[in-house]
Amino acid sequence: MRIFDPHIHMTSRTTDDYERMAAAGITAIVEPAFWLGQPRTSVGSFTDYFDSLVGWEPFRASQFGVRHHATIALNPKEANDPRCREVLDLLPRYLEKDGVVAVGEVGYDSMTPEEDEVFAAQLALAVEHELPALVHTPHRDKARGTERTLAVVAESGIEPGHVVVDHLNEVTVGLVRDSGCWLAFSIYPDTKMSPPRMVNILREYGLERMLVNSAADWGRSDPLLTRTTADAMLAAGFSEDDVDRVLWRNPVDFYGQSGRLDLSDVEKEATFAGNSILRGGS
Ligand SMILES: [Zn+2]
Repeated sequence: MRIFDPHIHMTSRTTDDYERMAAAGITAIVEPAFWLGQPRTSVGSFTDYFDSLVGWEPFRASQFGVRHHATIALNPKEANDPRCREVLDLLPRYLEKDGVVAVGEVGYDSMTPEEDEVFAAQLALAVEHELPALVHTPHRDKARGTERTLAVVAESGIEPGHVVVDHLNEVTVGLVRDSGCWLAFSIYPDTKMSPPRMVNILREYGLERMLVNSAADWGRSDPLLTRTTADAMLAAGFSEDDVDRVLWRNPVDFYGQSGRLDLSDVEKEATFAGNSILRGGS
């Protein structure tokens, strides 16, 4: 089994995680730039962080047989801090880099006017650089946040097929489905989406434009939940081809729109026969 986790923050994870992921078949990942918990007070902190996302982290991943790409943006939370605003001027330089496959995470945290402005500016950058955009939806007031997100996306002129709206659930899936954007779901150990809930959504809404990620970061999260979801799909009667579509071909199709996705190393290794060490663990 081959698995592509399209949203995971490996900067916050250990080498043990990389080893366990590779053993479970998770051999391709995208790491979006995000909020590190501790507020950053200057643009220089972002420069160092972005450099590690396109330099050190892909190197570290490669030591464990995992192919790493990144998305770059000023995250919604820090869009509210005037000290971070200059990050917008830094972005064009990073959006030209080979390993950068989208603008992201952009979108809303608390839905402030500052977030409006930074979100729209970054969607414009995505259009200008002909890159897809990864859009985070707020964890509070999700339905209203998702509606507003889709309105800003529509206004920006970006093609809906170039946008993935992330952290969806049963309440917001229908809204995004009708917009033509891609739909992403973050599977967490105890809050938000779980593997069984994800399987139900796939049953109801089908596999088209669907992405599943672990969004694992510095909080309580689990980098193997993409694999657990794949196993739950098989147990629920989905075929191996269905699993491959949602957990490999869909993210390849979405991020492949950047023209920069290079999976030549891992595609050779990945076979569907794969290991089954986690089978039944869902
Ligand atoms: Zn994230």
